[in-house]
Amino acid sequence: MRATLMYGPGDVRIEDVPDARIELPTDALVRVTASCICGSDLHPYHSMDPAHGPARMGHEFIGVVEDVGSDVATLRRGDLVVAPFAISDNSCGFCVEGLHTSCTHEQAGFWDGVPDQGGQSEAVRVPLADGTLVKLPVAEDSALIPSLLTLSDVFGTGHHAAKCGGVTRGSTVTVIGDGAVGLMAVLSAKRLGAERIVLMGRHRDRTDLGRRFGATDVVAERGEEGIERVRELTGGHGSGIVLEAVGHMPAYEQAVGVVRPGGVISRVGVPQYSRARVGFTSLFGPNVRLAGGPAPTRAYVEELMPDILDGTIEPGLVFDAVTGIDGIPGGYRDMDERRSIKVLVRP
Ligand SMILES: [Zn+2]
Repeated sequence: MRATLMYGPGDVRIEDVPDARIELPTDALVRVTASCICGSDLHPYHSMDPAHGPARMGHEFIGVVEDVGSDVATLRRGDLVVAPFAISDNSCGFCVEGLHTSCTHEQAGFWDGVPDQGGQSEAVRVPLADGTLVKLPVAEDSALIPSLLTLSDVFGTGHHAAKCGGVTRGSTVTVIGDGAVGLMAVLSAKRLGAERIVLMGRHRDRTDLGRRFGATDVVAERGEEGIERVRELTGGHGSGIVLEAVGHMPAYEQAVGVVRPGGVISRVGVPQYSRARVGFTSLFGPNVRLAGGPAPTRAYVEELMPDILDGTIEPGLVFDAVTGIDGIPGGYRDMDERRSIKVLVRP
């Protein structure tokens, strides 16, 4: 079968690899019908150490169950399923709490921890299939597939940002970052009832989509100028809830700059730093809380799916390009050079 491998920075190749197959009784074999490239895939695309490669890529996909192991109870051949970006048993203490990314099962974890598997391929062996996969009540060629695919990661991640930030009816929210996750954070804040949503981003096509998803204001300026602008828009003291959807240090600094005393910074952009200001002049003095982390998207599927199925929201609008498997290396380039927001892959 064909799959995507990353060899090092900027070096993504499509290669023939051994067919995925059932290895454990709790596995399912899924033929991928839709997958995509993630903004977080661009982090290794910039900085991967080739000594750790090649790495199989992709952690968001929808597909058809082709085979199941003998212990799989809830899925059968022919089911259309969506795979969250974390593997979990959906039954341990943390899963029951809704924190599937901290699942204690020995096979639980992120897709990059599963050797020789990845969603940007023709098929995937899915561990802990009963816990990880969620059946979709549509056909594989449904027009809702792009939106349902966002349940794997970006929509669930935007929702997690909003939830960890405590967004509720009437909230004032600032979203930092106009990538797919930032736009999903806007949509999620709107869905949870936020009244004022300031989107910080400087790519017009993206911030226009952000307005469509519910942003009430767009701030294109960055740094001190951007911070001043957000403070002006939010009554002078800043925003009570800040959703940081980038992961680089300037975005964190921006968040510290625009958050209101007593407010919360909720981070879902994978941090590309391990040291940041948390002292008196940044978080401690103004009583600011820092929240967020990898989204347990499995926990949110049942809550978010109905609004997609009935057409209330269309998160799939973040996909502005579609390619086959051979177009994946070009898709990485297009996303890296900001020509595409997010690339949908139809293997
Ligand atoms: Zn668990």
